[in-house]
Amino acid sequence: FSSVELTQAYLDRINKEDSRYNSFITVTDELALRQAADADAMRAAGQATAMTGLPLAHKDIFCTQGVRTSAGSKMLDNFVSPYDATIIRKFNAAGTVSLGKTNMDEFAMGSSNESSFYGACKNPWDLDRVPGGSSGGSAAAIAAGLTPAATGTDTGGSIRQPAAFCNLTGLKPTYGRVSRYGMIAYASSLDQGGPMALTAEDAAMMMNVMAGLDPLDSTSTDKAVPDYTASLDQPLSGLKIGLPKEFFAEQLNPEIAATVQAAIKEYEALGATVKEVSLPNTALSVPAYYIIAPSEASSNLSRFDGVRYGYRCEEPKDLEDMYKRTRGEGFGTEVKRRIMVGTYALSEGFYDAYYKKAQQIRRLIQQDFVRVLSEVDVIMGPTTPTTAFKLGEKTSDPVEMYMEDIFTLSLNLAGLPGMSIPCGFSNGLPVGLQIIGNYFAEEKLLNVAHKFQ
Ligand code: GLN
Repeated sequence: FSSVELTQAYLDRINKEDSRYNSFITVTDELALRQAADADAMRAAGQATAMTGLPLAHKDIFCTQGVRTSAGSKMLDNFVSPYDATIIRKFNAAGTVSLGKTNMDEFAMGSSNESSFYGACKNPWDLDRVPGGSSGGSAAAIAAGLTPAATGTDTGGSIRQPAAFCNLTGLKPTYGRVSRYGMIAYASSLDQGGPMALTAEDAAMMMNVMAGLDPLDSTSTDKAVPDYTASLDQPLSGLKIGLPKEFFAEQLNPEIAATVQAAIKEYEALGATVKEVSLPNTALSVPAYYIIAPSEASSNLSRFDGVRYGYRCEEPKDLEDMYKRTRGEGFGTEVKRRIMVGTYALSEGFYDAYYKKAQQIRRLIQQDFVRVLSEVDVIMGPTTPTTAFKLGEKTSDPVEMYMEDIFTLSLNLAGLPGMSIPCGFSNGLPVGLQIIGNYFAEEKLLNVAHKFQ
């Protein structure tokens, strides 16, 4: 069949079924069919690559030329991007087809997709439950079979946690491996885009497109990009796995612990050896992250002022009134909470006590990982402390929501790569195994993930 037929089949499915999940904010039918026709022409001309004509969905945080890019916010509900994010440009050049833009927590702030201006998104495994967040729309769309794969972003777990909740493979690359140009900023020193897919092989193919230096992102790295599919089948004999004792502590749901332990046993059967390690500052990662991320967010989100682009309040009296009402009306509750926390933490008199302290803790957390990763090849543990929770279950208590990120966000603080892969079920709900590697060890992570699948 042709790319046009394949694309039409996915579009039909999205239009028919997505009212159940709410995984797409915008479906780009016209663009998709045009790209599919181009892909068919490339194929006819013998110019196709492995990705040509492959339908994909993109998190609505990646600017897409001529298409609304909302970041899940009322603030950008009317924003049509005049340019493509680098990864969108790269996927276009590889000949992929863009089905649409997926639902997400507002400005990627959340772990459940419930802070989206476009409404919550539902987990296809159980429609009463959240798909995770903030890349919840990408995860739900893949799990529901509405797209074969999708892009996501991960500032504190937003690729790995929804992947875990929806039984998918998600990779958060090393900070700097994938360009952030055109990816709407949440917390710039933590944000990283990456693939979400059904298998490690699919994620590897996406990484081949996404990774690499970008002159438009000064934090992207010029390290050579390997062919991520080349080493998927490497044997794992001799692989050293570290199990951080802090990841298996009492608060971890015992069924999740058992499912994860069973997966690790399978790695031992594949020739890996396991040892206990310690990441003693794990408990500090949540408080440190929830100072640093809001601080950066408060600065990044100052650009949404009603002057440049996006929402503007009706009939402002004067400039100050416009700023106040635009931001008051355009941002949702969680975003406002973070802007207030961040502004407070950065203010004179409190900076040393909060922001500086959090940065010091961040360094300690990074040093823990560097030490452990000099002794083992990968670290394994659960991706999340619970399986997918019920819609509305944690919305009234932000701190409880933040605790969802306990195992994921330390990696972002350290800049390390991590994956979540499906490793079994607990009470009928998917459980994710998290695999953490050293800087730029994405090939190794994908290899380790692939051997399990
Ligand atoms: N749940 C975390 C937060 O709300 C992480 C979100 C993300 O990775 N974008 O900040």
